[in-house]
Amino acid sequence: MGVNGGTMDSKAIISPGRTHGKAATYIAGCRCSPCRAAHAERILRQQHRRAITVGKDTGSFKHGRSGYVNHRCRCEVCSASASEACRAYQAKVAAIIQSGYRPEPGENQAG
Ligand SMILES: [Zn+2]
Ligand SMILES: [Zn+2]
Repeated sequence: MGVNGGTMDSKAIISPGRTHGKAATYIAGCRCSPCRAAHAERILRQQHRRAITVGKDTGSFKHGRSGYVNHRCRCEVCSASASEACRAYQAKVAAIIQSGYRPEPGENQAG
């Protein structure tokens, strides 16, 4: 008699017209893997867009490599310049190695 019959069915009923693999279908209650993936992707994209917007809103610092390092900004400008700086550094290191430079332990004593 005291049994609660109002427990929600864990299996949501999706109307047959729904297309799976869409965030909207996930929001409607479907938890199949294509729908979950679509929803996760949408969340990620929203977070990404928000990060860019936040980065653009905070005009108190210069965007670029310093913004990436000092302000942990991950907007397009900062990310691009950080990855470019990283690439430039790698290229510099490669150039030094190619030029035949080898740091010697006793280099300081030379002369
Ligand atoms: Zn689904
Ligand atoms: Zn930035």
